[in-house]
Amino acid sequence: MKICLDTCVWLNFLQNEKTSPVLLILKKAIDTYNLLLIVPEQVYVEVDRHKDNILKSKKDAIRTYRSHASELKSLLSPESAVTLTDILKEVDNNSDKYDLSLDKTYNLLQQTIYHPQTIRLETTNHSKVKAADRGLKKVRPFHKGAKNSMADAVIIESLLAYQAKAPSISLYFVTVNSDDFSDAKNKLEAHPDFNEDFEKANIKYSILPGDVIEELANTPIPDDVKKSFKRFYFDLGGILQAWMDEVTECLKCGGELAFNGHLILKGCSGEIYVCKQCGTTHHLPDDMT
Ligand SMILES: [Zn+2]
Repeated sequence: MKICLDTCVWLNFLQNEKTSPVLLILKKAIDTYNLLLIVPEQVYVEVDRHKDNILKSKKDAIRTYRSHASELKSLLSPESAVTLTDILKEVDNNSDKYDLSLDKTYNLLQQTIYHPQTIRLETTNHSKVKAADRGLKKVRPFHKGAKNSMADAVIIESLLAYQAKAPSISLYFVTVNSDDFSDAKNKLEAHPDFNEDFEKANIKYSILPGDVIEELANTPIPDDVKKSFKRFYFDLGGILQAWMDEVTECLKCGGELAFNGHLILKGCSGEIYVCKQCGTTHHLPDDMT
């Protein structure tokens, strides 16, 4: 069986440490030739572009929590402050370990995505033209005017071209980006704009990376781990950078959001939405795939 993970799944492994055991299961299945990993060139480009941002945000987050907790101490009773001091000491003693475990996950990701058995799909001119065709026809993933969906489209067209030559073994395309790829009525199914192409090319679709890897690697994965794959956001000091295509309400308070233009933040251009209720700024990178 062949598997292709969308950029957002690879980034999940980095963003959410709960999912890293799944990365190890995936690598073992590739090591033992039970699974063939297919990686379109565009996925390498996107993962590489976002990884520093994610690793830095994760490492910064711990430092931010620590400094907030430290401020909190002055408001506590002396006994509680002593307890908090102990907790902070423990955090300080383990901060290197935390950074190391993130780096370890990143190394494991590199070893998997660049595995010697991995089939790497170059972005051909043919795939680019087919992707542009999708754009002109305004079919998925080009369904939102302002969003640049070229990277998504190139990934899909690279897979279709590859599978057209070797359709006898089916390929799983796994993403957590249901907004762009899933049928609106049933998120577990691919959008009708992909169905015919996927069927012809023997491509299966899933938005459940944990479930698919469990099945293909024939290794049980706990339910809570499988459920932890999702789109995510970072708090960049008061601005929430939401790595999702759509945010329908404030991620802090559920309030209504107002569109407030475009902004480049941490190297990602994206749309800005401000909560009318609590004022929280949301940044949605528009090239997230
Ligand atoms: Zn709000």
